[in-house]
Amino acid sequence: MADIVELSENLTNQIAAGEVIERPASVVKELVENAIDAQATQIDILVEDAGVKSIRVIDNGQGIPANQVKRAFLRHATSKITSRLDLFKVMTLGFRGEALPSIASVADVRLITATAGSSSGYEVHLRGGEIIEEQGASARQGTDIIVTDLFYNTPARLKYLKSQATELSQIVDIVNRLAFSYPQISFRLSHQAKEILRTTGNGNLQQVVSSVYGVTVARDMTDITIQDNDFKVTGLISLPELTRANRSYMTLLINGRYVKNYSLTKALVKGYGTRLMVGRFPMAVIQIEMDPNLVDVNVHPQKFDVRLSKEEQLMNLIEKAVRDKFEQTNLIPDAYENY
Ligand code: ADP
Ligand code: MG
Repeated sequence: MADIVELSENLTNQIAAGEVIERPASVVKELVENAIDAQATQIDILVEDAGVKSIRVIDNGQGIPANQVKRAFLRHATSKITSRLDLFKVMTLGFRGEALPSIASVADVRLITATAGSSSGYEVHLRGGEIIEEQGASARQGTDIIVTDLFYNTPARLKYLKSQATELSQIVDIVNRLAFSYPQISFRLSHQAKEILRTTGNGNLQQVVSSVYGVTVARDMTDITIQDNDFKVTGLISLPELTRANRSYMTLLINGRYVKNYSLTKALVKGYGTRLMVGRFPMAVIQIEMDPNLVDVNVHPQKFDVRLSKEEQLMNLIEKAVRDKFEQTNLIPDAYENY
């Protein structure tokens, strides 16, 4: 056996990238989440060739101070948590400090950023994890990051990518869910300069649903709201007549994070009882707020999978919210009112 050596930072970043950055949609997710964490109110996402050629995310958030830009590309470097205790009450989408170094290790990255009130911004260009160029630059407040040549140095990963249509649909899917999660942020997504999604950022979830699924779907959604000591559940669910053949039109958001959780979607479906035809599923956007102590988001690098400490209680609550909605007599979709 060879001697035991410590791997270089660049190599460990590439290994981490294997987990965090699976495909172009993972890059989009990480960059948009960073923009959200930076309190952006406008996020533009411009994609070329389903993200393989380039992914650009422009935000009007807080920006990164010039003297910290390089640090943002270091492994496990984050401004979002500082102690072990913070880990149990994460309110930001990011906290692992892995995305930027991972992306930079498998692509070409140019980032330009400026903070509020600073007279100038800063620009850095990395390729394969190495800094090629850096300099002061004039920029407006926020961050503009362009990722090109994704996976140019990891041919196996590049080969594993699916068709452009599939990769693009993954990107659209993740942006849709983020838009559901943050109706108060204006999102714009375009592919080859053609607009795919635009939301106003006026805070109205129903309008976001309309932008994503169309106005006729949005009209057939009705709102739910329920609360107990631990959870607050709000959102929009489809009337029983409006269904889909699979589960992917149900979006669960926990403290602003899109999660995949079979038990919770099952509870949602169960709430419809016999109102749904067999093999049909509702459409829904469910926003769940809870004490961050009750949810462990540090289960998987991509954070889709979370552990809930009171999962059954939450399942019952969701089921009840749906059941109560349809057991009301004289059902008029109150969605119409503010629409
Ligand atoms: P994490 O999001 O887990 O902290 P990242 O690697 O995604 O790790 O980002 C590292 C750091 O860079 C963040 O903690 C943040 O301080 C800064 N950063 C990244 N993207 C942005 C952005 N769009 N606006 C402001 N700061 C950003
Ligand atoms: Mg991040």
